[in-house]
Amino acid sequence: MASTFQLEVVTPDRKFFEDEVSMVTVRTTEGDVGILKEHMPMVAPLDIGVIKIKQKGKTVMATCAGGFVSVDEDKTTIITDAAEWPEEIDIARAEAAAKRAEERINHGDAKEIDVVRAQIALNKALNRLRVAKDDD
Ligand code: ATP
Repeated sequence: MASTFQLEVVTPDRKFFEDEVSMVTVRTTEGDVGILKEHMPMVAPLDIGVIKIKQKGKTVMATCAGGFVSVDEDKTTIITDAAEWPEEIDIARAEAAAKRAEERINHGDAKEIDVVRAQIALNKALNRLRVAKDDD
């Protein structure tokens, strides 16, 4: 019998994913973590990055704009501010967001807090572009 467990990914707008999977890889703030059935229970903060979901031998990718992962005995839950499948990503929007963020970062008299926010926005936009272009 295949070793699968339940994965649920939720965002403020929708239940992004809910199904049995054989593995999920997430980017925590401490690095990438691969979760298989019977992984030790844990809760970890997520960085901006990619969620890789393995199901029936196939792996699919989605963006993750940070959040939390919670691993229980037979269920893993990811709660994130935003998640998108590659085909959902609006490339022009992500390019515009990256450009806007770069301009803020390079603006000499920007406040530190604005620069930090712009760096997060840039990271999210570049992550979306990488996933949309499938070169993570
Ligand atoms: P923008 O500056 O373009 O609004 P953002 O990084 O501020 O982007 P988020 O706050 O991360 O956007 O997400 C808000 C909503 O918009 C989420 O539902 C997210 O999935 C969606 N979203 C953001 N950027 C894109 C994109 N390039 N393509 C598709 N959906 C996107």
